[in-house]
Amino acid sequence: MSIDFSHIPSSIKEKSNSELTTSIFIFKAVRYKWLICFGQAALPYVLWVPGIKFFLRKTVFNHFCGGETLDDTKKIIQNLAAHNVNAISDYSAEQSGTKEKQEETRKNILQSIKFAAQQKNVPFACVKITGICARPLLEKISKQEPLTGSEQEARKEFDGHLDALCRAAAEQGKKIFIDTEETWINPAINEAAERMMAKYNREKHVVYTTIQFYTTGSLAYLQHLIDTAPYKVALKLVRGAYHEQENERAIKMGYPSPILPNKEAVDRNYNEGLRVCIKNLGKVSFCAATHNAGSIELLMQLMKDYGVEANSDIVSFSQLYGMRDNLTYELAGNGYNVSKYIPYGPLKETLPYLIRRAQENAGISEQMGDELQLLLREKQARVSSNSKCN
Ligand SMILES: Cc1cc2nc3c(=O)[nH]c(=O)nc-3n(C[C@H](O)[C@H](O)[C@H](O)COP(=O)(O)OP(=O)(O)OC[C@H]3O[C@@H](n4cnc5c(N)ncnc54)[C@H](O)[C@@H]3O)c2cc1C
Repeated sequence: MSIDFSHIPSSIKEKSNSELTTSIFIFKAVRYKWLICFGQAALPYVLWVPGIKFFLRKTVFNHFCGGETLDDTKKIIQNLAAHNVNAISDYSAEQSGTKEKQEETRKNILQSIKFAAQQKNVPFACVKITGICARPLLEKISKQEPLTGSEQEARKEFDGHLDALCRAAAEQGKKIFIDTEETWINPAINEAAERMMAKYNREKHVVYTTIQFYTTGSLAYLQHLIDTAPYKVALKLVRGAYHEQENERAIKMGYPSPILPNKEAVDRNYNEGLRVCIKNLGKVSFCAATHNAGSIELLMQLMKDYGVEANSDIVSFSQLYGMRDNLTYELAGNGYNVSKYIPYGPLKETLPYLIRRAQENAGISEQMGDELQLLLREKQARVSSNSKCN
């Protein structure tokens, strides 16, 4: 089962010349790993330098984020709708140190759910738990350490906030993704997500938890959920975005890395996850959140083998804004249920997200090549057509 992912997607064709040049610049620049490492270390401290914010906004921020506010993303969402692509507004502020910040993030996510309710092509909302709950608390819960009185209060408050977000999604007839993060806080995130699924997924798949298939225990966790959950299991399947941090921490702290030893093992594990999910469809609904063409082709084949319609409501695909539009648009063009995650938020607070995207693109030379090749092909096509006109 295959469709041709080599077409230049309309999103690239619609870029102005300067946008195209900027995208080429970004994808060439992120190939230099030292530059990413430098950016990661230095950026938070040099944002005040005149011109830095302007430069970031004009380059990586514009490429990978939909804007600073939900309003900024509207045009993008409409454009995606015109191509039969769904959208998922993702408030990507991750620097939630203070209570005020958490409150602001919670309000923004709630606003994104209300916004989704008014849009036909926004079926999901999403929540990153570190935006609404302090990391040290998530870590303590994950380690099953006893909580102080004030921590217990904070936990109760967090539970209430997450519940309100899931309830709002359910009431609006929308679904909600709960993102996963680092393995040392994921037990707390998984536990909260399971509680929400138990409450809201009695009849329908409403709350989706995320499984990172780069972790050694992921398949066992998937099977455990399928075997034991007395509710509908809804899943976002990802490879995982933090493998370097995970390995570094494991080495530094002297414990075995929870990440599979190499990319091939991760790919096998992810693809096995797809097979397990499709075999259990009905109890399970899932979204393959991936830029990997091999996994996408496998899932298309599995859907065919198991008689699942391309536009099924319970199997879908998703990619991130600014990445692999050739996959997204081709899937949409062939009638598949596919969406784009559109991150937005204040530039400063989306930095961790932007750095992850740069790292991801730096780490994957083959995909990087694909993305860059498409952009360069479009540039070449424009040069050729200009020279013909002259
Ligand atoms: C819609 C959407 C939602 C997402 N939500 C989340 C989320 O909630 N949590 C999260 O963590 N990520 C999330 N991601 C990010 C996702 O994990 C990365 O985009 C993904 O890892 C990139 O992998 P890929 O499936 O696109 O395939 P590929 O690009 O083929 O694989 C790259 C991935 O393989 C793994 N990998 C590469 N080299 C190695 C190695 N040497 N050893 C071990 N593993 C390796 C890493 O996971 C790396 O990111 C999301 C992505 C999308 C598209």
